[in-house]
Amino acid sequence: MVITIGKAADNDVVVNDPYVSRYHARLLRDEEGCLFLEDIASTNGTFVNGSRIVKKKVSLTDTVLLGEKYKLELSEVLKTGNDYSEEFARLKDIYDKYVEQKVKIQSSNQFKTRLFQALPFAFIGILGVLISALGKGSAVLFGISLFVTICVPTVGIYLGAKQSAKIPRQLQDLSNRFKIDYVCPKCGTFLGEIPWESLSNRKQCPVSSCKAKWVKG
Ligand SMILES: [Zn+2]
Repeated sequence: MVITIGKAADNDVVVNDPYVSRYHARLLRDEEGCLFLEDIASTNGTFVNGSRIVKKKVSLTDTVLLGEKYKLELSEVLKTGNDYSEEFARLKDIYDKYVEQKVKIQSSNQFKTRLFQALPFAFIGILGVLISALGKGSAVLFGISLFVTICVPTVGIYLGAKQSAKIPRQLQDLSNRFKIDYVCPKCGTFLGEIPWESLSNRKQCPVSSCKAKWVKG
């Protein structure tokens, strides 16, 4: 990707300033997503953070001057060139956190559900051992143990089911947030549950009317 900057009307970014040359500089992005600013033999020079440059790797936080005083905002230049790579790069974090949270919710719920379902049987087991040790042949104890054997698993199944029903709600909240955050920085379209890496390989927004450029930043 190359964006040309200068006073002539056929530049990508046209700058009207007496100290800016007709074809003054260009901003390039390489395959890795690195940005470079290059002076194209301008009369009054290009300055990055106060030093005159010929070609230099730059970032959006650098202060760039064309000629003596024209301040060039690199983020504005990139938007003119439909380049949203910097913003797209920030989506990686959002995607990674989403996947991490999803796995966390699912596994913690699975554990709790199983725990609720398994505990009653452990309880019955202990009770059975106690009854057989204490009250041999007692009709009352037999009645109690029968009652417990029927009721406790029912409670366990009920609690387990309640716990597993919590999953969709928590996941729903997570996915709602994800739908707001994982969007194209230009057109705002939700990018779907598509891994960041696969999206970045397409090198542009999947929405055909948008086509915001996306080179790994
Ligand atoms: Zn878009």
